[in-house]
Amino acid sequence: MKIEFRKISAHKSPFELENDLFSSKGSFRKLSADLVEIDFALNAQLLLVCDRCGQEHVLAIDEKMNLKVSDGSFEGEDLDVIENYDHIVDFDSIISGEIEAIKSDYHYCEKCNKISGE
Ligand SMILES: [Zn+2]
Repeated sequence: MKIEFRKISAHKSPFELENDLFSSKGSFRKLSADLVEIDFALNAQLLLVCDRCGQEHVLAIDEKMNLKVSDGSFEGEDLDVIENYDHIVDFDSIISGEIEAIKSDYHYCEKCNKISGE
């Protein structure tokens, strides 16, 4: 799903996305001429490799997220803004990027979690 910045209004518009990787439901709106806010719930099943023992395991993601996307470079103080340079908000690639960020964190399988918790 891709929407041009200039077509996004200040009123919340609902969206729903579903693909092989995740499902997501929420809304987006324009905060200012070049800043869009996306509020959504993210559901995904990620196959991860334990960083301790190498075992593959599934992590279920069920999270509420709030993202801001700027049209061009962002000069403000908010560090969580995703800068975008093609005047289009590409929801699939933004949400995929968030999932990649979650994946790149350290993850332990349940067994190793127990060990490190003792
Ligand atoms: Zn492990």
